Amino acid sequence: MMRKNIVAGNWKMNKSHPEALELVQNILNSSYNGAVKLIVIPPAIYASEVISMTKGSDIKVGVQNSSNYEYGAYTGELSSTMLNSVGVEYGLVGHSERREYFNEQNSELAQKVIQLLAVDITPIYCCGEVLEEREKENHFNVIKSQLEEGLFHLDSHQIKKCVIAYEPVWAIGTGVTASSDQAQEMHQFIRNLLSEKYGDDVANSISILYGGSCKPNNAAELFSNPDVDGGLIGGASLVAEDFIAIANSFG
Ligand code: PEP
Repeated sequence: MMRKNIVAGNWKMNKSHPEALELVQNILNSSYNGAVKLIVIPPAIYASEVISMTKGSDIKVGVQNSSNYEYGAYTGELSSTMLNSVGVEYGLVGHSERREYFNEQNSELAQKVIQLLAVDITPIYCCGEVLEEREKENHFNVIKSQLEEGLFHLDSHQIKKCVIAYEPVWAIGTGVTASSDQAQEMHQFIRNLLSEKYGDDVANSISILYGGSCKPNNAAELFSNPDVDGGLIGGASLVAEDFIAIANSFG
């Protein structure tokens, strides 16, 4: 199965309601070349409206977080069933900001993945090492544990429905991007892990996105690597022109 190229924009906790709608409208008005699957990931409060606005377009909508529980007394949480019922199709799991500021552990993330898959929302499972881990040359071990503990509980049928995002934490929001070689090296490592556990067919069918200061001026080089299947974009996804320029880098 050919894997998909994807560019997904994580808006994080940015944009007022009118600003969010304006951004969606600007993306819809942009000249997008259709070479990748486009996903926007607004704050969940805007998801329904963004889904209505983008109906019939090439744009899919995701959320930044979801509960590891199915339903019940979990004040403030949104379940995967609720998200699915308004048309959400993708869900970030384990973004480094969730891991760092909300203390999300791999075991909890493993449950989130299960909840999303249960309602056919595609998990985008994020992994990435901090600078100290890379400097100590421990980055491959860190990524291996994050994948083994948060994602590799799935069977082949389930994991084929997931997307993986490699996001070195030292590159997120810092303006420092991983070099093209560093990105390819880690993406290849991840694909090899997938291959060892699930076989080549499954490994080759899973999209692995790069995230971390990906911008219009570096996207084409990062995306030219054989194991980089697109990007998870933070800051640059808040400007329609930049987001579409990144998506068009595949064309
Ligand atoms: C992110 O938060 O997923 C991200 C990649 O952010 P930025 O592009 O701003 O580094």
